[in-house]
Amino acid sequence: MDRPVSKTLFERAQKSIVAGVNSPVRSFRAVQAPPLFVVSGQGPYLYDSDGNRYIDYLMSWGALILGHVHPEVQHAIEAAAGRGTGFGLSTGVECDLAETIKQAFPSIELLRLVNSGTEAVMSAVRLARGYTKRDKIMMFEGCYHGHSDGLLARAGSGLTTFGLPASAGVPCSFTEETLIARFNDLESVETICRAHGDDLACILLEPVAGNMGVIPPKPGFLAGLRNICDRIGALLVFDEVITGFRIAWGGAQEKFKIRADLTTLGKIIGGGLPVGAFGGRREIMEKLAPLGDVYQAGTLSGNPLVASAGKAVLDVLGKTDPYKELELRTREITDDLSQAASLAGIPLWVGRAGSMFTLYFTSGPVKDYQSAKQADDHLYSCFFKALLERGLLLPPSQWESAFMSLSHLKESILQTTIDLGTEALKLLVADSS
Ligand code: PLP
Repeated sequence: MDRPVSKTLFERAQKSIVAGVNSPVRSFRAVQAPPLFVVSGQGPYLYDSDGNRYIDYLMSWGALILGHVHPEVQHAIEAAAGRGTGFGLSTGVECDLAETIKQAFPSIELLRLVNSGTEAVMSAVRLARGYTKRDKIMMFEGCYHGHSDGLLARAGSGLTTFGLPASAGVPCSFTEETLIARFNDLESVETICRAHGDDLACILLEPVAGNMGVIPPKPGFLAGLRNICDRIGALLVFDEVITGFRIAWGGAQEKFKIRADLTTLGKIIGGGLPVGAFGGRREIMEKLAPLGDVYQAGTLSGNPLVASAGKAVLDVLGKTDPYKELELRTREITDDLSQAASLAGIPLWVGRAGSMFTLYFTSGPVKDYQSAKQADDHLYSCFFKALLERGLLLPPSQWESAFMSLSHLKESILQTTIDLGTEALKLLVADSS
């Protein structure tokens, strides 16, 4: 597929934007491919600047659960824009969105809208610290919670794993307060709690990991964390920036029947516009300014365009309840590709939860960061590029989630996906022989 316009745009972009992209994953470096420059989307399709069409399984990193340019979302944004793009003051549509979120998440009694997932998690962690009057937090190796300083931590060595900075510019003294456990491993959590349980403000996790590829929680893992938090007096914080309104209407908490103390949201609740939210028990949330002494604020928070778009998306989801269908169809695609890989003699492990999935090029099982890292990312890059050439876009990294949308739920789209995936898998065998 020729992409001369994308190529020219990339050259131009690199002259004024760092590495030519406004977020590193867009650079496609992980799959050693030049990045796409997009002109438009429609339903399940994405169109690049050269007029090429792709079936899009990135869906703005999970934000677009209805597909591109859903008419009700488009209408809501246009109508809101006609009334003004923002006032820095309160509007009724913020109440509409907040009430709908509360309906879906019974654990959320009060919430705040913010502008990104990063901001939501950063604020939730500050609130957990302010509420418990404790400084340390626990998170899990391979989970991602945005790019705030204390959460850019990676596991250090040793049993009780103190976080080491995962980025230059983050002082060790910040990540020292972050303790890193292994996903799906309650024993690693207990080990940390034995040493630091009394100092822990919260245990923070993606209840379904989506940032090391998709790894569902083992049975009992989330319930175990709930019990540990109750025992040691720490808050359980579910980062549902991806899973909220994605794997069920009420996110992972509905699916796995676990009540979080604080929840962070993003992506879907903004209909593709910049958004985040965090919320939880009333007594915790009332610690926030101006009621309490934990400071948090935002000029554009609760922006009416964003809130209108988000409300329109949630209304469609509420009306159609698409979750069973999305899960079924995602399972069909991944089962068929699994079978095709097995026939081709390629080890493939499928990580799947609802309509999120990752095709790991390893025999698995993939249950945590260490096992996810066993996947062959070179093979994934070849697969990614073969599919891109055939008009299908997967996430540009082995360790990211692919996302289905309601607009994918057409027989022709699903069948084309299976056919193209099977063809690309066969090609991998041919190339390696
Ligand atoms: N939390 C999770 C689970 C995420 O996947 C992401 C981003 O992908 C974030 C937080 C950060 O969100 P944002 O990119 O909107 O800042």
